Amino acid sequence: MDPKATKIGLEIHVPLRTEKKLFCDCPTSYHEIDTPNSLICEICTGMPGIKPMPINSKALDAVIIIAHLLNCTIPRKRIYMKRKHYDYPDLPKGYQITSEPIGVDGVFRFDGGQFPDIGIWEVHLEEDPGQYNLAKGLVDYNRSGVPLVEIVTAPDIQDPEHARSFMKDLLKMLEYSDLILEGTGIIRADVNVSVAGGNRVEVKNVNSIRSIYRAIKYEILRQEALLSRGRVIEQETRGWDEERGETYTLRKKESAEDYRYIPDPDLPPILLGEEYISKMRELLPETPQDIRQRFISKYGISEKYARVLTNNRDIARFFENLATKVDPPLLATWVCEELLAQLNYRGISLSETKITEQNFYELISLLSSAAITEATAKKLLERIVDSGESPREVVEAEGLGAIKDDGSLERVVEEVIEENPGPISDYRSGKTEALNFLMGQVMRRMRGRADAKRVSKILRSKLDKS
Ligand SMILES: [Zn+2]
Repeated sequence: MDPKATKIGLEIHVPLRTEKKLFCDCPTSYHEIDTPNSLICEICTGMPGIKPMPINSKALDAVIIIAHLLNCTIPRKRIYMKRKHYDYPDLPKGYQITSEPIGVDGVFRFDGGQFPDIGIWEVHLEEDPGQYNLAKGLVDYNRSGVPLVEIVTAPDIQDPEHARSFMKDLLKMLEYSDLILEGTGIIRADVNVSVAGGNRVEVKNVNSIRSIYRAIKYEILRQEALLSRGRVIEQETRGWDEERGETYTLRKKESAEDYRYIPDPDLPPILLGEEYISKMRELLPETPQDIRQRFISKYGISEKYARVLTNNRDIARFFENLATKVDPPLLATWVCEELLAQLNYRGISLSETKITEQNFYELISLLSSAAITEATAKKLLERIVDSGESPREVVEAEGLGAIKDDGSLERVVEEVIEENPGPISDYRSGKTEALNFLMGQVMRRMRGRADAKRVSKILRSKLDKS
């Protein structure tokens, strides 16, 4: 496979986080509602004779901000809302309303330069169709009319890995902006793939990053296999079969004319003023890269931890809300190493645990003031992830505070030395690993309440003395 000859482009649709639909006042919460056709009206179900209400300005704001985030130019001309015609049960009007480009000629820059940048051709605002269940023949219009941003990339993507990294970073950036709906099954993409010597093939409605990756991989292999047998790759539109992991022919030679685009006569064109465009630019949210740089410069944490923390917006916010109250580097270490290990082990997100800013704050303060040992803190964390208890109260009630009195530590060390003549002589004959065994014995008797460094110091001094 020659990566330079392979051209991949994506058309990505993501629902915007607005309260109301694009052309009516119905709520957009279709993803939280189980009752079909309960969030609908005459407008979003395309009843005869209806007209759309004026465009939802919140949705327009969001698309302008996203266009800015993708370094697009905003056209200073009348932007028409167009009707895109096609027949399918999910589209009661027989056309979908979609804007002319609201952003053009942008670029998505990869952070750290591990992949080539990807051109952004166009950003549009459009309405979502309903959801048609082909197997049951049922349609749910709750989603019909929900505002979407459509992002069309240049065919700059070279391989499935490039596409996957782009999608992950793009979604992360959009999530940080708070402008999009979140959740699984939210994004939909059309994937265009062509290999050297073949025509462009479009795969419609690929619904997750993993499926985008698989569909691209499958298409490259399929197209190359056809070419190697001397066959021609026709321009066509294919579907994606998630279960079989294969694409299949939907229709041949589809072109823009098939959609019979016309400006919607019920909607006036939008003319974006300079003042409005620059006002939207001022509302530009911080990107994950901006936040990472700030974490490094403001809180003095390492690049590595800053990267881990900003991988997830909720984790980044959790960190930042506590960073002004406790030692930031200690906090970063405990979030990145210990808390995330607990989440990964359970396969859950922060919001699914009983961890709160308050109980985690207590844990880190107890640790940083040496009121508890690291071993105790780890045990407590493991417990409060599920229980949500107050670490301060648990430590008090169960007497888990660190032992600071050297006298009692020394007594335990002496006991251990007395009871383990074998390991002691091993240590003295140069087998230093025997020290770990003796340390373990002391720590076990102290139930994790002794500071390991202090124990090691006392143990060594006693062994070297006697
Ligand atoms: Zn409606």
